[in-house]
Amino acid sequence: MAFKPANSIQDLQYFGEFGGVNPSISDSSTYTFISAKTMFDTFEGNTDGCYLYSRHSSPSNLYLGEALAAMEGTETANVYASGMGAITSVLLQNCGAGDHVVSSRTIYGGTYAFLKNFAPRFNIKSSFVDITKLEVVEAAITPNTKMIYCECVSNPLLEVADIKGLAQLAKKHNLQLVVDNTFSPLSISPAKLGADVVIHSLTKFINGSSDTVGGVVCGTQDFINELKNVNDGAAMLLGSTMDSMRSASVLKNLRTLHLRMQQHSKNGLYLAEKFEANGLKTVYPGLASHPAHELFKTMMNTQYGFGGMLTIDVGSIAKANALMELMQHKNLGYLAVSLGFYKTLFSAPGSSTSSEIPEDEQKAMGLSDGLIRFSIGLDADIERTYNMMHECLVELKILE
Ligand SMILES: *Cc1c(COP(=O)(O)O)cnc(C)c1O
Repeated sequence: MAFKPANSIQDLQYFGEFGGVNPSISDSSTYTFISAKTMFDTFEGNTDGCYLYSRHSSPSNLYLGEALAAMEGTETANVYASGMGAITSVLLQNCGAGDHVVSSRTIYGGTYAFLKNFAPRFNIKSSFVDITKLEVVEAAITPNTKMIYCECVSNPLLEVADIKGLAQLAKKHNLQLVVDNTFSPLSISPAKLGADVVIHSLTKFINGSSDTVGGVVCGTQDFINELKNVNDGAAMLLGSTMDSMRSASVLKNLRTLHLRMQQHSKNGLYLAEKFEANGLKTVYPGLASHPAHELFKTMMNTQYGFGGMLTIDVGSIAKANALMELMQHKNLGYLAVSLGFYKTLFSAPGSSTSSEIPEDEQKAMGLSDGLIRFSIGLDADIERTYNMMHECLVELKILE
């Protein structure tokens, strides 16, 4: 039977201690032990079901982690205070001085900045490659390479990584394949396609209400145990721990993710088709014109669609800014970074979320000035939204 990620979330069952339909929120940073011996064993990582200290784990964080692991089909997961907390902890757990990472060149700006500017302090080097070309990825692998790093659907150019192909490469060269699935939750299940570790920024679609930052690492029990090890675990020692109150609220939002993704995808496809028909340069994985449209179809859990992210190129930063300001003025969405909100969000990545990437490199990867990234909202009447956006485009003479 095909893997059904939303069912896996629904099938989990846990109650509060008074029979509440939601698990109780754990409200403690530290936990008592009846015997000193159990405390010692817990420090050593030898006891199941015992809590020690909430930077290590807390009941609320375990519930959320369990639900996200079920969604991704991994053995377990660990939640973090942010997506970057999750990403940096995986990178620093797996790579040390002298190690090398082969990374996609179109990744989240913060991840790019970490690999490019910060990790070299620890003598961890990275090569940034066109992830859509497996032969280019393979050619970048050196004897020191430890990891292939990519996003399923990349930020902001919406390039699609061939997860199965990359997993085969990783296996062949004995590397770990780490995949950031923030842009395509439910639509793509990277672990099922062979990824070793799946990361999300929970801040985006998964939480969906733009009220918190959070992250998760989904992987094997062994790997998550390594991350949480009190002696040398990056999760434990770097300290990017999610607060229990937040993990409880993210868990509640996760339960409607399947409905939200379907609506984001439906609206995304509708607008992408209209924009493309208008003659705008439109990038959306659901369009037949997208170079990886067929590849995406081979990877996707069909019912969740091609996601809520699309880009259009309006030619110049001046036009992009004018359009975004006008759309915001007409209440069609917000000029804001981030994604996965009920309202449409738009930004010009060249001057915002990808500004960490130097201009010449932006050009080389096809990130142009006039590019607008849309995170399409949950609009009930997307036809009306389109008509109003079209009026904006005409008013600014981007369209006739
Ligand atoms: C936002 C984002 C991140 C970083 O997550 P934070 O929660 O902001 O730390 C990482 N990867 C992708 C693809 C993102 O969109």
